[in-house]
Amino acid sequence: MSEFEIIRRYFTRASSSAVLGIGDDAALVRVAPECELAVSTDTLIEGRHFFAGADPYPLGRKSLAVNLSDMAAIGAQPRWILLSLSLPGADEKWLELFSRGLFELADKHAVELIGGDTCRGPLSICVTIMGEVAAGRALRRDGARPGDDVWVSGSLGDAALALAHLENRIALSPDDFERCARALDYPVPRIELGRKLHGIASALIDISDGLTADLGHILERSHVGATIKVAGIPRSAILRRYLPARAALQALLAGGDDYELCFTAPSSLRAEVKALARKVDVPLTCIGKIESAGGLRLLDERGHAVDMELRAFDHFA
Ligand code: ADP
Ligand code: MG
Repeated sequence: MSEFEIIRRYFTRASSSAVLGIGDDAALVRVAPECELAVSTDTLIEGRHFFAGADPYPLGRKSLAVNLSDMAAIGAQPRWILLSLSLPGADEKWLELFSRGLFELADKHAVELIGGDTCRGPLSICVTIMGEVAAGRALRRDGARPGDDVWVSGSLGDAALALAHLENRIALSPDDFERCARALDYPVPRIELGRKLHGIASALIDISDGLTADLGHILERSHVGATIKVAGIPRSAILRRYLPARAALQALLAGGDDYELCFTAPSSLRAEVKALARKVDVPLTCIGKIESAGGLRLLDERGHAVDMELRAFDHFA
């Protein structure tokens, strides 16, 4: 199968929302008037972001999900993607399952694949995503103010718990592992929540590298600090069962791969946040407060500092 055959068979579909889709030297898109184009890219590399031989169906989904999460995290409506694939060979079964996973999630969010690149090499998947956001209304990392509440969506740590099990850092029961592996393989991007946080959130980020690291980015960019009550961080019944094991606490606070949203909002807007949680049917939990003193303080139930070295994943550390 040739390169063009791969593109035609697995990745070309009729274009509807783009001015020009796959097949020319560049795609053409028209951004709605009064909107800015939000652009982001994320790469998944075999042996680094996923295990060699990983199931291609969830991989196709996740390649898009992590990019959708970046659109959610800036409050944009995702519209178009580019897909750059490096493939060791033209494995038809792999391509069929990978593209099915990718398109299923793309269709769910009305996102269109409008171009990309296909070459031979070690397996790696790079998705570039574009979305629209009302001009000047993007929810950035630099808007947190002292006195704001810190909120997170959903619950944290299950995906990292599955990874800890796979890396023999903790032993989960087969049932617990299966449930946590779903969180790892099928993250749910919080698109609707992100878009509806306009007018409520002062700063917003998605939790991909772990709560402490990603909240840390908000603090740094906003020149503020925060105090977080660890007992108040939402966690699943499964994760609760494995606490206080260090690997479970680590998963909750610094695990990564959650793809939940973390945002700050003025405390005068608590009722609005709670109403939004009901509207989009996503639990939202207040976990702490923004303060003018820099740094992140983690407190246990007795108000003592949680002293634990929490290092987020860094490719070059
Ligand atoms: P060029 O030689 O100009 O780089 P290519 O031969 O790489 O063009 O690609 C031909 C067309 O197919 C382009 O429109 C490109 O965007 C699209 N394309 C290539 N690979 C992919 C892919 N994996 N998914 C979607 N579109 C792709
Ligand atoms: Mg090319």
